[in-house]
Amino acid sequence: MNCQEIEALKDAYADRELDLVRATEIERHLSDCPACSQAYENLRALRSALKSSDLYFKAPALLKRRLRESLGAENKDAPMPQRSNAPTLFWWQWLKWATPLAGTALIAVLLASALIRPSTDEQLAREVTASHLRSLMADHLTDVASSDQHTVKPWFAGKTDFAPPVKDLAAQGFPLVGGRLDYLQDRQVAALVYQRHKHFINLFIWPATRSSNATEKPAVQRGYNLIHWTESGMTFWAVSELNPAELREFAELIK
Ligand SMILES: [Zn+2]
Repeated sequence: MNCQEIEALKDAYADRELDLVRATEIERHLSDCPACSQAYENLRALRSALKSSDLYFKAPALLKRRLRESLGAENKDAPMPQRSNAPTLFWWQWLKWATPLAGTALIAVLLASALIRPSTDEQLAREVTASHLRSLMADHLTDVASSDQHTVKPWFAGKTDFAPPVKDLAAQGFPLVGGRLDYLQDRQVAALVYQRHKHFINLFIWPATRSSNATEKPAVQRGYNLIHWTESGMTFWAVSELNPAELREFAELIK
């Protein structure tokens, strides 16, 4: 596992969302890599600071009083707390500062995670597109050339540590051309090649790091259309020069 992967997975790791194998790989990397280990410690420190009780305040008496005042006359008879109460004032001052600060910190964390995730996807989109282009240009589209799913699927056995689902979509106008081994973000992935008229579709498949099923919005990279989604524990990236509508149709058929 490399530093990039750690960066992408460290949130999930901190949330204990990863399986044992992944978590062990991350622990091994963190113990060897001071940079990642420091980044992870920073993340943990920020999280525990946000969770710590220092940011939790019981409403001070003065605040209650002001609320009552603003609620109108019905509470006029209720006893009022002492105004000239030094600790109360102290907490009130604290609250005035701490509340926006906590809010700002929370927004910063949310923004950071929102910004980090698309950039990982963008990086992957670039790699997926480059891989697609390479497969077409180097005339290395397939390692196993067959339109038969029962030939292509077993071919991956023993070559990958997972079994990619292989579907035959000839009847729906997307005949299977074959499969090959490829590498994305330093990991082995299965690439299935489908055809639509004169266009090729590369469908990259590898085990997902998140268990939830989700479809991300389609993207365009250097004029190529991409769709990616997670389903049944696998990540799927489809890329082609095919138009977005037909690529979406293809993705729906695969799902
Ligand atoms: Zn590292």
